[in-house]
Amino acid sequence: MDASLTLTLTFVLALLANVALKFWLNARQVRHVAQHRHAVPLDYVNAVPLSDHQKAADYTLAKIRLSQWDIALDAALLLGWTLLGGLHALNQVLLDLMGPGMPQQVALVLSFVAVGGLLGLPLSLMQTFGVEQRFGFNKITPKLWLADMGKGLVLGLLVGTPLLWVVLWLMQAGGTLWWLWAWGVMVLWQLFLMAIAPNVIMPLFNKFTPLEDESLKTRVQALMQRAGFTAKGFFVMDGSRRSAHSNAFFTGFGASKRVVFFDTLLQQLSPAEMEAVLAHELGHFKYRHIVKMMVTQFAMTLAGLALLGWLAQQVWFYVGLGVMPNLTGSNNALALVLFMLVVPVFSFFLAPLASWRSRQQEFEADAYAVSQTPGQDLASALLKLYQDNASTLTPDPWYVKFYYSHPPASARLSRMRAA
Ligand SMILES: [Zn+2]
Repeated sequence: MDASLTLTLTFVLALLANVALKFWLNARQVRHVAQHRHAVPLDYVNAVPLSDHQKAADYTLAKIRLSQWDIALDAALLLGWTLLGGLHALNQVLLDLMGPGMPQQVALVLSFVAVGGLLGLPLSLMQTFGVEQRFGFNKITPKLWLADMGKGLVLGLLVGTPLLWVVLWLMQAGGTLWWLWAWGVMVLWQLFLMAIAPNVIMPLFNKFTPLEDESLKTRVQALMQRAGFTAKGFFVMDGSRRSAHSNAFFTGFGASKRVVFFDTLLQQLSPAEMEAVLAHELGHFKYRHIVKMMVTQFAMTLAGLALLGWLAQQVWFYVGLGVMPNLTGSNNALALVLFMLVVPVFSFFLAPLASWRSRQQEFEADAYAVSQTPGQDLASALLKLYQDNASTLTPDPWYVKFYYSHPPASARLSRMRAA
């Protein structure tokens, strides 16, 4: 059997397995949550009212219903782009319009991203103005939504186009080790974006005001000193303009490190609970989770680019996925798009690994928080957060293995009680 046919068959089988697995996980989650909807789990009878428990169940089920459509649409789009000839047609149209060359290559990738974004728009709108709205989480107005979208688009073009241009140019002119140079450029670009994010990018979307609550500030400063951390400032972000969901996070590098609280968090938690949440975030720093995550991500990018470097040279890689490669001009943009389309089909089977690692890190951060602040504060803060975000207390264990980057509340609380 020739290589392109082998690839076609492997791809179709992997896609079927991928879709079947996702539907199976969804079905499990629906069954599990629905089965436990009638009563609050015994451990939480005193802490969580039945109405909250049922709201969390209904919210979880509503999100799953939407994700059913998402899975189906994704699979249909993927087939449309590849075996049904969508990408090939787009490439031909752009070749007719622009002729071969770098502008056509860049235009191919950009128009592929644009078409995907447009087709995904209805579901994203249903998510924000349908599900989130119905459960009282959405706070964004259509006007702000449009403004966000416009800014995101301009920013994406400004940040993405130069990088894309350089990568395509390296593929063309960088020799057999182009993927190594491209990797270096991508790593530097990402570090640069992370460095400018707190001061340049994030203020485009949100207002950051210095934390004014003096007693909380003193508390938080004392905690940081105890734990041996420095931060340049404490800020409150107007997250409530968009959503009632809440969070706290660290951003910035070295001396520009800052702590950001969502205004929604300040409304929901007591100062002692805020301190516990912050101690959890400090735990992530203490154990260098962010650095470890970045190293892993960079290593995966390198492996991916090396693989792409090899695949881009194989005729069967194009033909097997429904594209006729140009015999004269460059195929680099085609290879790049095909790679972005196909890799997630296979990498989804590794999702439990990444999710497991992330959940372990959450446990580590919890343990650190408990070593710095009273465990009771973190426990009540977590319960409030899970409750206010309508996270179900009774997720399906297999669904958790695949999708949960944070352990379910019950797992975190029982682990803390055991310690
Ligand atoms: Zn965490």
